[in-house]
Amino acid sequence: MPQPLTRTLRAAASAVLVSLLALTLSSCAPPADGPAAASEADLGAEDGYIPEGESVSPYADDLPTIANLDLDLRAALQRAAADAAADGVEMLVTDGWRSERYQQLLLDNAIRNYLSEEEARKWVKTPEESTHVRGLAVDIGPTDADSWLSQHGNDYGLCQTYGNEMWHFELAVRPGETCPAPLNDASAG
Ligand SMILES: [Zn+2]
Repeated sequence: MPQPLTRTLRAAASAVLVSLLALTLSSCAPPADGPAAASEADLGAEDGYIPEGESVSPYADDLPTIANLDLDLRAALQRAAADAAADGVEMLVTDGWRSERYQQLLLDNAIRNYLSEEEARKWVKTPEESTHVRGLAVDIGPTDADSWLSQHGNDYGLCQTYGNEMWHFELAVRPGETCPAPLNDASAG
């Protein structure tokens, strides 16, 4: 009689369904740093994920990518964005806070693209090192907003950190102080 086998298979199938459902549900729940993400399809707003080419308002406090930023950085960013807007420049965030698994996926992708970990590390830090994961960095766009911020950022304490990333800013000085010279790239710091 094949009956018990069928029942076992059916039980196994429903176990798989239940785990799939649990996976789907868990993507809606904090904390963000869940199991490793295999692809960007596994990431959501709870990881601070912003799809390539998209950006969010620096005032989107309901999104983890903005809400999980260091409070001083967020306040400086929002003050700068208001003054940039007064100058006719719209400032947007292309990357803010990121979960560890999002950062790891970016690093894995970069290693694949650059075919070398050494080269990839010039652009993407590990989850342990990344200031994005600690909520201490924002990537700004579009280009005219980057230019505005490299010119006026120090009024808010915001400085471009890396010479090869004109979009990446961190709170690095007291408002009004001069920004330190940027490091060559992310592997230098
Ligand atoms: Zn960055």
